[in-house]
Amino acid sequence: MIPFLDSSPRIIKGVGDKYLEILNRYRYNSVYDLITHFPEHYIDTSDTDNIIEDGIEKVYLLNIKSSNLYRNYRRRLSIINISGTIGEVPVDMAIFNKPYMMELIRSSDKLRVYGKVLVKGIKNKIENPRILKDEEGIIPVYKNIGSISGGAVKNFIENVFIQKEISDDILPVHLVKEYGFEPFWGSLEKIHSPDSAEHKFESIRERFIYTEFLFFQLEIAYIRERSGKIKRGRKYLIHDPEKTIRDHVNFQLTSDQKKAVENIMSDLSGNFTMQRILLGDVGSGKTIISFIFLLFAVQNGYQGAFLAPTEILISQHFENAAGFFKGINIAILTGSTSSSERKKIISDLQSGKIQLIFGTHSLINDKIIFHNLSAIVIDEQHRFGVAQRAALFYKGEKADLMVTTATPIPRTLLLSLYKDLDVSEIRSMPEGRLPIETLILKQEIREQFYSEIKRRAEGGEKVFIVLPLISESTRFKNLRSLEREAPFFKKIFKGVTFGVISGKVDTEERSSVFRKFSDGDIRILISTTVIEVGIDIRDATIMVIEDADKFGLSQLHQLRGRVGRGDKKSFCYLFPSSRITSTGSERLRIIKETSNGFEIAEKDLGMRGGGNIAGTEQSGYLDFRISDIREYPELYFRASRDAAALIKNKTLHNIHITKKLELIEKRLKKISFS
Ligand code: ADP
Ligand code: MG
Repeated sequence: MIPFLDSSPRIIKGVGDKYLEILNRYRYNSVYDLITHFPEHYIDTSDTDNIIEDGIEKVYLLNIKSSNLYRNYRRRLSIINISGTIGEVPVDMAIFNKPYMMELIRSSDKLRVYGKVLVKGIKNKIENPRILKDEEGIIPVYKNIGSISGGAVKNFIENVFIQKEISDDILPVHLVKEYGFEPFWGSLEKIHSPDSAEHKFESIRERFIYTEFLFFQLEIAYIRERSGKIKRGRKYLIHDPEKTIRDHVNFQLTSDQKKAVENIMSDLSGNFTMQRILLGDVGSGKTIISFIFLLFAVQNGYQGAFLAPTEILISQHFENAAGFFKGINIAILTGSTSSSERKKIISDLQSGKIQLIFGTHSLINDKIIFHNLSAIVIDEQHRFGVAQRAALFYKGEKADLMVTTATPIPRTLLLSLYKDLDVSEIRSMPEGRLPIETLILKQEIREQFYSEIKRRAEGGEKVFIVLPLISESTRFKNLRSLEREAPFFKKIFKGVTFGVISGKVDTEERSSVFRKFSDGDIRILISTTVIEVGIDIRDATIMVIEDADKFGLSQLHQLRGRVGRGDKKSFCYLFPSSRITSTGSERLRIIKETSNGFEIAEKDLGMRGGGNIAGTEQSGYLDFRISDIREYPELYFRASRDAAALIKNKTLHNIHITKKLELIEKRLKKISFS
């Protein structure tokens, strides 16, 4: 029997097949996953107010003046319209499809309502009102999970509490004792239904953060134990590598790059397959090294594969590759490849006709069978789990593997993640690079500044502008969004074409805008952080970041790294947000004064927290849902140690750990080729 916490969420009352599918899609695969979906914030009903704050969600006391119920039975629609006042200010609101509320409304002259008032002259409206009838105290508010509303999530979680087995704990007893964690269900109760307005959850949360680390580490430790070194299946002959490089690369490799190539060549002549990570700051020139590695394989008659995390990134690599791999049959496979094309590619990979394949993680798919794959590159891999699984997936091929990354996390943490990989590091930048000048600007000059940017774009420069949000957010009310700023940019950039991309724009459109930017048909690219990773536009010289203090240090560094890639002087302009904190100012100062990515990652670690919206679009680094390795490195290392001990000593396992390891084993079997 599957233990309750490991069971599919399907066993929770209210979760049907439709909901299950959505939950699974968002990686909520067990009751435990669901119960660790923590409230985004809390409503304190004792904090009722009659002062309207435009656009802010809070609890208001509404004096009812009039109300009526409209019903349309055929369309199964009902609307209760209420007019009233908050303080002295007239306010309207509408409640949809809750006709039964009418009784309560008729019988009272005041209502406690949670919602956001939109001030519109005399016609003020409460948006998405929520009537707090009997609900007293602290009410948790949950984020939606896909299309499942926060309210529905709340119901599911309440049902978990009803269905739970009180004695259960996800962690083994000895660890709970060692860390002095509070009891499992008691901790959860404090998070999901706290009884005081002072929710000081940090110490309770640690238990769950630690758990997430531990289970992640268990997987890694288990994989490590299972796999180990792999005997080489294929031999390479590399003659006159210098000539090969001269023939394909039109610049001088830096000494670190040369060293990396030497490392690769020595690996390729060794007895075991290469398992190497290539570390190097943004713009240090990792791509060319990957290409040279793949070229060695192809020259020996083998196939190569190049994986990157996004479509934009892989398309860009593919385009560069066309110039580098002349006379070699290369192809690209992504989520948006048509199914007929996909079929053809799959068959050509199997026959060996395609020598080199570029793709997103759609390349990790057991329908794909290679003729003789021998070299794999996984580019810009911040999401560690993906890299591990990809590596494992290809292990049956006995292929040589290189993972590249520009550390978003400190070196020590990174190396602990990739413990089983050999390291090559590019420390110095290619020659001739001018340092990027970073400037912090004042809001007052914004308009004037963008007029200047327009002139520079017209003069031929390429400009990135990055905003924190796609659309307005009630939580980050003061931050700029693409939607809100659209009219401003339209006006100020009149006459210059500019492109806009975000995670909401579909991938084809994104790639097309991107290509235009690359070709110079668009000179200004306005976006969210989707452009953060790896994009290489050699002649882009200006990066503008709005609300810059709201980004993490490493993220700012990554963004800044999108310019200054050629030989032209580049600039990074930072606009602080309207409510900058002292940590925020400190962050901007560090970015202005530091250009070394490793140094920045170290500092980032010491500075987490404090109004950070990093990851609003990218779902966090690595594979964690509630934890952040940079915020809790100590817990992370301890979890790593504890996991290793657990793998060694089965008597310490509880039922959940046994189940988890069984699951991993099953997955390993499924994806192994041998
Ligand atoms: P990253 O390490 O961030 O992946 P890239 O590989 O994209 O960086 O390299 C950044 C830019 O620097 C590219 O345009 C690349 O062609 C160029 N480049 C790489 N190595 C050298 C070099 N040794 N000399 C001059 N330019 C180089
Ligand atoms: Mg790169």
